[in-house]
Order: sequence, then structure tokens, then C-alpha cells
Amino acid sequence: MLDYIVVGLGLSGIAISRRLEERNKNFIVFEDNSQKSSLVAGGLFNPVILKRFTLVWNANEQMKIAIPFYKEMETQLQAKIVYPIEIYRKFFSAEEQNNWFEAADKPLLSEYLDTNLVKDINPNIPSEFSFGRVRQTGVIDTDILIKEYRNYLKNEDKIQFERFDYAALQINEDSVSYNGISAKQIIFCEGFGMQHNPFFNYLPLRGNKGEYITIYAEALQLKEAVKSSVFIIPLGNDLYKVGATYNNQDKDPQPGEAARQELVKKITQLITCKFEVVDQSAGIRPASKDRKPMLGRHPKYKNLYCCNGFGSRGVLISPMVSKQLIEFIENEVQLPPEIDLQRFSKKHYTD
Ligand SMILES: Cc1cc2nc3c(=O)[nH]c(=O)nc-3n(C[C@H](O)[C@H](O)[C@H](O)COP(=O)(O)OP(=O)(O)OC[C@H]3O[C@@H](n4cnc5c(N)ncnc54)[C@H](O)[C@@H]3O)c2cc1C
Repeated sequence: MLDYIVVGLGLSGIAISRRLEERNKNFIVFEDNSQKSSLVAGGLFNPVILKRFTLVWNANEQMKIAIPFYKEMETQLQAKIVYPIEIYRKFFSAEEQNNWFEAADKPLLSEYLDTNLVKDINPNIPSEFSFGRVRQTGVIDTDILIKEYRNYLKNEDKIQFERFDYAALQINEDSVSYNGISAKQIIFCEGFGMQHNPFFNYLPLRGNKGEYITIYAEALQLKEAVKSSVFIIPLGNDLYKVGATYNNQDKDPQPGEAARQELVKKITQLITCKFEVVDQSAGIRPASKDRKPMLGRHPKYKNLYCCNGFGSRGVLISPMVSKQLIEFIENEVQLPPEIDLQRFSKKHYTD
């Protein structure tokens, strides 16, 4: 009998699988490529909310766990995944500059917000009110991470590239069975795909579609990420990701014309050099009602777990909460109530 079945191998499933490997647990992953959120993510890790200059929920703790976690995966997979990249926030007014200074005075934010404003960062990105630099930021190449980890699991015979069929899951007293596979526990990490999961779709999961365009801009020569009304993230070879959009109405997984137009308009207002759109991608962010992750044990079936609700912050959140979930399952270390899915079960779960 296996220790675990894991359903879904986006950022959540990867972090869970790594935690299982750390504990020498036997497991099998099911992945059907139905969701793309982790694959298309900008991959930014950034502890500061750049709209209001506030700290991301639990940012310090998340950063301490996430960066070493991805560095270890670099070593394991022999692939470059972590790219430290500075983020410059473009200011639109003197008031914004003042808000930045006020925020930088706060103890938890001071280590991240540089108070030496920069007048010019690039001749093609003018700013009347300068730029503020965020420290300790960077990008995780989620595309390489996912591809390499999937290959690794394939070589280890630990992944099956097929849809997990919920109707075929049999729940026993101390185990689960699925098409001839028995395991002690099952953890669902399907992102927005959880809407089809009859065991956990009672949870208030809100899909938020996000789209990026990729532009080719030879004259731009930008090494840093810039945040204005959109992010520009350098990819190398004069290519840049520009985005992302936020849309909580549209659940079509394909990229759309309206988002492309919105992003072209915003980048035209931000950079002065020529560019060409060469690609566009879309994914549905799995967000929760209260913007915190939702993880833990099913209210009725004790061998069923889920790890979801990362919204727009999966890169930093997944290494931390995966650790907490496995400690909860294996060592009965209680989950913090603010992330435990039980906070919704009383209101939403009907047996
Ligand atoms: C455009 C965009 C930009 C983003 N940028 C950033 C960023 O810069 N930084 C950041 O931290 N976050 C970013 N995010 C958010 C981040 O992508 C998410 O928080 C994260 O990817 C969620 O990971 P997940 O594993 O929960 O879900 P997903 O990535 O959706 O993974 C779920 C996996 O489960 C699989 N699956 C689902 N159902 C089944 C089934 N029945 N059987 C088998 N497999 C199944 C899917 O195919 C998928 O691979 C961005 C998101 C988008 C859309």
C-alpha cells in the first residue's frame, strides 16, 4: 500500500510531493494538464503588495521557507529555477512617494523598501516621480520547475498523466483505493480544477483569470522587473512578460482579445520604445473567499485532504503551507485556524 495519492502537480502538488519525498513517503501523482495557473505564472516572489505598500500576509515566514525550498529543488533537479530580480515600483505622484516613505518606516517593511528613490532606471521608461526599489525579490521559473519535476517523477515512476476520476475513488476505514491503487491518504491539489471535486467543491473557491502577453522589445534592454499599472518581467533574449490581468467573471481557460488589448494599452503607456506581441497565455488563479489558503482534512472522511486557495501568491505560499499540512497529517501538529479549511466547513459543508 502507498502512503499517499496526490492529485494535481501545479505549485501546490509539487510542494506537497517534495514534502513527502523529504519524509521518504511512497506516493503517486495524477496530472491531466487541465489547469495552467502555475505554468503561466509570472513566478514573482515579492513580499510587498505594491498597490498599497503593505506586507503580504505572513511574508517574512513565507520568504524564509520558500527561497531555500526552491534552491534545494534546483540542486535536486539540476536546473536553474531561482532568479533574483529587483522590482522597481513606478510612482505616479508625490503622495505615492510619501506613502512609500511612511511604509518604509514600519518595522516589518523596512527591510524590503529602499528609501533611496531612483530617478531613472531605463531611457525607455520615463517617470516624473521616480521609482522605489523592493529588496529580496525575484522570479521562480515555474515553467522549468514544473517540466523538470514532472520528468523527474516520471523517471521515478511516480506520476500518471491522466485525469483523476473522482467517481472511481473508494473510501475505506483507514485507506483509499483507486483503480487498483491503495493508499493511506489522498491529497487534492487541483487548483481551480477543485470545482469538479465532489468532496471539496463545497469550499468557497473563486476563480480569477489572469493573462500575460509576451513582447519582443529589442531597444528596451531592461534587466529589472518594473511595476506600474502592469508588471514587466524580463525573460532574456529581448523578451518580456507583461501582465497580468485580473478577471473574476471570465472562466474560459483560453487567452482572450480583450485582455490582449488591455495589456497592449498599458504597456504602450509605460514604455516609449517599439515592441511586438509574440505570445499570450492565460490561467485561472484558485482564490478563496477570504484570500487565505484553504487546506486540511475533509470534515467527514479522515483520509481526504486538500491544499488549495493560493490566489495570486502560490510561489511564496506553497512551500510553507505544504510543510504545515504534512506536519498536521503525519504528526498531528494543528493547522493555524486562518488557513484550516474547517473555517468554512461549518457554514458550507452539508453531509
Ligand atoms: C497570469 C497569472 C500570473 C501569476 N503570477 C504569479 C506570480 O508572479 N507569483 C505568484 O506567486 N503567483 C502567481 N500566480 C498565481 C499562481 O499561479 C497560483 O497561486 C498557483 O499556480 C496555484 O497553484 P495550484 O497548484 O494550486 O493550482 P494549478 O496551478 O491550477 O495546478 C493544479 C494542477 O492540478 C491538475 N488537475 C486538476 N484537476 C485534475 C484532475 N481531476 N486530475 C488530474 N490532474 C488535475 C491541473 O492540470 C494542474 O496542473 C499567477 C497566476 C496567473 C494565472
